[in-house]
Amino acid sequence: MSTPGLIALAISLLVSAGQSALRPDRSIKCSSCDEWNVSIEGFKVFGNTYYVGTAGLSALLITSDQGHILLDGGLTQSAPLVAANIVKLGFKVEDIKLILNSHAHYDHAAGIAALQRASGATVVSSASGAEGFALGNAVPDDPQAGFGKAENAFPAVNNVRVVKDKDVVRVGPLAVQMHNTAGHTPGSTTWTWQSCVDGKCLNLVYADSISAIAAPGFRFTGDAKTPSRVEQFRNSIATVGELPCDIMITTHPMATDLAGKLKKRAAKPAADPFIDPQACRVLAANAMKALDARVAEESKK
Ligand SMILES: [Zn+2]
Repeated sequence: MSTPGLIALAISLLVSAGQSALRPDRSIKCSSCDEWNVSIEGFKVFGNTYYVGTAGLSALLITSDQGHILLDGGLTQSAPLVAANIVKLGFKVEDIKLILNSHAHYDHAAGIAALQRASGATVVSSASGAEGFALGNAVPDDPQAGFGKAENAFPAVNNVRVVKDKDVVRVGPLAVQMHNTAGHTPGSTTWTWQSCVDGKCLNLVYADSISAIAAPGFRFTGDAKTPSRVEQFRNSIATVGELPCDIMITTHPMATDLAGKLKKRAAKPAADPFIDPQACRVLAANAMKALDARVAEESKK
């Protein structure tokens, strides 16, 4: 076999080795799942931060020579795609030391069980998120719990390390801070860190969903028994808007036009469309408007 042929064979063996180490759980079925789970190639966002998710569900890898941090795992059927992206970028799934979760809904958390088995990493989340992982389901006070246990189910994960607002988790030189952004779920979290290139450091934000989505009958404004969650939600949205923010990736990348940014970047690499210091402020302003509309709507019922 020729040298290029041998290299191609070695790469394909390495890729398949990375994939075979991961045993995915049973596929999740939902109306958007197939659209979300379309495979895309992983790519460098900036410095040591890589996008390793699918077309519709984000997963980020922050790398170091002392181990990596993975943020989110998508659906159960996303996990092998995430693992393949990591391997194709030249990293090892077994070098992931921590897996951080945005919020414990099946579209961001379901792939984590298989990725944890493949890597041996510790899963990290908020206290409410850990409750969701133990249940393998939305927690009872989740706005979407009313959609049903079968609809909300995902593979449970135990031994979750719980972190509090503003805690920093570390792997070697990597340091990632958790920000409590409860609202979309009671345990929602946004994560921030810095990545550097040639001494130029940028602030990266993995922004959790801050959308007021709920099952029928749920009220963010509360009733006589449950006080309003609106104030907490407003605080969370304000937190996202005020973060040091050069590059923001959202849990659903379509919400901030990942595909469009990739096209623009390919056409004109010098003006990186991922660098946008207004991104957090704009996302927060839009989320606040949507929450206000939801509150107004609830006041009519
Ligand atoms: Zn969600």
